[in-house]
Amino acid sequence: MVPIPQTDPHANYRAHRVEIDAAMQRVLDSGRYILGEEVVAFEREFADFVGAAHAVGVASGTDALELALRACGVGAGDLVFTVAHTAVATVAAIEHTGATPVLVDIYPHSYTMDADCLQAALRDPPLGRPRALVPVHLYGHPADMPSICRLAKEYGLYVVEDCAQAHGAVIDGRSVGAWGQMAAFSFYPTKNLGALGDGGAVVSSDAALAEKVRALRQYGWHERYVSDSPGGNSRLDPLQAAILRAKLPHLHFENGRRRSHARRYRELLAGAEIGLPAARSDVRHVYHQFVIRTKQRDLLREHLRDFGVSSAIHYPVPVHRQPAYAGRVPTAGELAHSDAAADEILSLPMYPELTPAAVDTVAQRIAEWTRLNQ
Ligand SMILES: *Cc1c(COP(=O)(O)O)cnc(C)c1O
Repeated sequence: MVPIPQTDPHANYRAHRVEIDAAMQRVLDSGRYILGEEVVAFEREFADFVGAAHAVGVASGTDALELALRACGVGAGDLVFTVAHTAVATVAAIEHTGATPVLVDIYPHSYTMDADCLQAALRDPPLGRPRALVPVHLYGHPADMPSICRLAKEYGLYVVEDCAQAHGAVIDGRSVGAWGQMAAFSFYPTKNLGALGDGGAVVSSDAALAEKVRALRQYGWHERYVSDSPGGNSRLDPLQAAILRAKLPHLHFENGRRRSHARRYRELLAGAEIGLPAARSDVRHVYHQFVIRTKQRDLLREHLRDFGVSSAIHYPVPVHRQPAYAGRVPTAGELAHSDAAADEILSLPMYPELTPAAVDTVAQRIAEWTRLNQ
């Protein structure tokens, strides 16, 4: 029995080892170990990939969200609407700015912000009108940006997209990250585009907002040693930038592999009593995760574990029920779909180097289990 991991960043390193090792050596030999050419070149290449004018490399996805919001002027006393069904980092970053996050429910099919709930919350805001919205393109499926951007325009709000799980996802021909005024990406090693350590980027087509992020990531410097505004330190490491430059040209191909694994899972699980992820025809889903749904999730997970198949739960406890946030972070109405999802979701093995044979094995184990449990 060959174990099948849920994700495998080492396999991705092995797939690009020669290019990555050469890229790292180039940085070591350059003598430049903070920002510099590698970071500038990656920023150019990544902005082009997204189809935005500017990208600014920062230390993590969490920092990217925080700095993007702060560049929009979000701070103490402001409200920011986002979702509870996301990585805690989304909500943590909002609080780091001093603002108060307000959590909105999700669509049960795509697990992204429900635009009708958002509209109801904007018409009758629980605590007041927000200054910004942070939709999350969860699992690689784009949020409903046409509706969200329409509402943001109507109410005069900034949109900062959380693209940490959706590098390369597209809605109506436009990439995620090119819909809002700003967008935040993470390069955590298991993401669709992953560094070999921490990294992140803010993307924007607004030159003034991008400039503000450049100052915020480095002591508020506009020019060296001149702090025009208070800032901190959140720079993308040039070693990570060089690694990301080696990997970026392969991202479309690797997203294609994820999509073909997803097609195979769908085919093989079509007859089984299992909830399959939504795939709207007007979007390109990049399957950061392939998330199925069943009321007997924990039993299925054990069954898979018995056969050496790892799975994961993204995320077992929604943010409004986490000890750090429960009873403290406000919600806009009931979060019924967020709560229900947390009890039923299961992320199957999904990464580009996964073999079709492994996908077949996982699907067969699940199909078997559903037959036994019906
Ligand atoms: C990974 C992730 C983040 C945070 O990124 P880091 O680089 O780990 O700080 C934020 N939001 C979502 C949805 C994520 O998946």
